[in-house]
Amino acid sequence: DPESQKVRVDGVLLKKQKLVYFAVNKPVGVVTTSKDTHGRTTVIDLVPAEPRVFSVGRLDADTEGLLLLTDSGALAHQITHPKKQTWKTYRVQVEGKPQKQDLARLRDGLELKDGLTLPARARVISPPGLWPRQPPVRYRANIPTSWLEIRIMEGRNRQVRRMTAALGYPTLRLVRVAVDQWQLLDLQPGQWKALNY
Ligand code: URA
Repeated sequence: DPESQKVRVDGVLLKKQKLVYFAVNKPVGVVTTSKDTHGRTTVIDLVPAEPRVFSVGRLDADTEGLLLLTDSGALAHQITHPKKQTWKTYRVQVEGKPQKQDLARLRDGLELKDGLTLPARARVISPPGLWPRQPPVRYRANIPTSWLEIRIMEGRNRQVRRMTAALGYPTLRLVRVAVDQWQLLDLQPGQWKALNY
């Protein structure tokens, strides 16, 4: 592994590869997986073809926001390993008006079908100034919506959606704005930028 070891071939030291790290703003409908895409655009299609990168963790097709791509196994391991407990921050538009006791349940840990969630951070926020969702959220007449900021350190399948649904507040829009120290900032849907790491 020339990333972490000195590797010689016939006595010649292999140059340490320059690793790349990209932040992308994944639009709705773009898939994270590179297999079985049924012709859909993948996040890999959003960034330069060389060097080949893979995504660090995943977002649902209907989730937007920050995804990291890299050719560094070390970064991927650091972020996705369950023991590392990387905080991920989401802005979440839900149907209904969560109350103090609902937020407390998110913070304390919540029983889902695959077990108790680790304590999350959750607060009500004012509607964030985000780009318009494409396609737009389907609102139901007479049902108010609210925005939450939820931070979790796990990455179970559809976790944030299942957490708000368990409390009775279906998620309408889900946008990841930070992973550990990396932030989405002003990246627009489909845009990417190279990170220094
Ligand atoms: N939680 C979800 O429900 N979906 C995601 O894509 C990420 C976190």
